[in-house]
Amino acid sequence: MHCPNCEYTPLIILEFQEVELDFCPECLGIWFDSEELEWILQGDFDEQVMFKEKEHAEKVKKCPRCRKKMKKVVSKDMETVVYDVCPKGDGIWFDRGELNRLLEHYKEHPGAETFLTWLWEVFNYNPDTNNNY
Ligand SMILES: [Zn+2]
Ligand SMILES: [Zn+2]
Repeated sequence: MHCPNCEYTPLIILEFQEVELDFCPECLGIWFDSEELEWILQGDFDEQVMFKEKEHAEKVKKCPRCRKKMKKVVSKDMETVVYDVCPKGDGIWFDRGELNRLLEHYKEHPGAETFLTWLWEVFNYNPDTNNNY
């Protein structure tokens, strides 16, 4: 599978609590197959987030699985972070920093905090400098 952002960079697999995530070593974006994110965040996360489509000027990316153009989406109560979702439901792509910001927002949710800590360790995400993204 290749990075939807860099196109030719192969994604590498990272494991978090038995879930395999695909990560781009080049642009530091991260791919979740459908339901992996919910699994990590333990349950009803999707109901809270409710992906909503949004027009956005950001470059259109292709799904690393089916190569169809992905949709730009935001979560319903946090429209400042725009991410990419496969129209067929293969999964979700987050550019560097996007997932971090989303999880920060949903910090109260069970699982989010543990996952955030892990992300910071793995990606050297720094919550203090992340506002640049
Ligand atoms: Zn990349
Ligand atoms: Zn797809």
